[in-house]
Amino acid sequence: MTQPGPEVDDSATWQRAREVFGAARRITALTGAGVSTASGIPDFRGPDGVWTRDPQTARLTDIDSYLADEQVRVLAWRARAANPAWHAEPNAAHRAFVDLDEAGRLGALLTQNIDELHQRAGLARDRVLELHGTMRRTVCLHCGATGAMTDALQRVADGEPDPDCRSCGGILKSATVFFGQALDADVVREARHAALDCDLFLAAGTSLTVHPAAGFVELAARAGAKLIICNAEPTPYDDIADAVLRGPLTEVLPALAAAPLIDSGEPLRTWGDPSTWEQM
Ligand code: NAD
Repeated sequence: MTQPGPEVDDSATWQRAREVFGAARRITALTGAGVSTASGIPDFRGPDGVWTRDPQTARLTDIDSYLADEQVRVLAWRARAANPAWHAEPNAAHRAFVDLDEAGRLGALLTQNIDELHQRAGLARDRVLELHGTMRRTVCLHCGATGAMTDALQRVADGEPDPDCRSCGGILKSATVFFGQALDADVVREARHAALDCDLFLAAGTSLTVHPAAGFVELAARAGAKLIICNAEPTPYDDIADAVLRGPLTEVLPALAAAPLIDSGEPLRTWGDPSTWEQM
């Protein structure tokens, strides 16, 4: 295990983080692109982010541009084929969540990531709520038919620059949530419940600027959960966090997950627990 030292963060912050984390028995986590950068997948808004380097690429994930402009779709298919996620392996940050789950402390993991590396690290599919969908499936914007992304990318490689739906001829895209699209209502409902039914909300590798995903932080904090934010750069919620850790996630998350559990002997009470509702 990597010992957190002054090069990771100052010791007072770490002491507080270990106390808060050690007392947590039902953790809901929210992860973002920063969890996967060490696997070779760039984030959007970090210093080496895709949008930081080329703001024009944001159009490729805007639903109106995608529907209206065939050239945007052609570029989007090329970008999908070239996505480093196809060759990426989970890293120590992904594995830290598996360790937490095996210790029985992970209530749910909400992720904005579309790369499925949490599942590939070993988290069961039903433990992961994919708020923004998955890049490994396609969906037709006309009939809703879904398929494997690898099949569509094979068609691109075979010379179709903008493959259409095999069933109805409609426009095909990745099964991810674009800007301008709503999140899946069932996933949002489950995510809200997980945010209310935890004693610690842990946000990791996310700039917390994309809504509604970022709103789960506030929901959990208002319901009384502790909040730890692990991110290299400041986020809009740092002021309400119990601890903010800025070190690399491949070091910070394994170190946190290894913090010994402090058992208070008290029953676990969260806002999702009906026995606490009369106090509201
Ligand atoms: P973001 O790009 O807005 O923020 C990522 C944050 O992670 C940045 O603030 C950055 O400083 C931090 N970070 C990066 N690497 C880190 C590291 N090793 N240690 C600590 N901090 C690190 O990402 P977001 O908040 O997830 O929002 C971006 C949107 O883009 C999401 O909707 C997501 O669906 C999508 N996206 C997904 C992937 C993926 O699946 N891997 C990659 C890029 C973008």
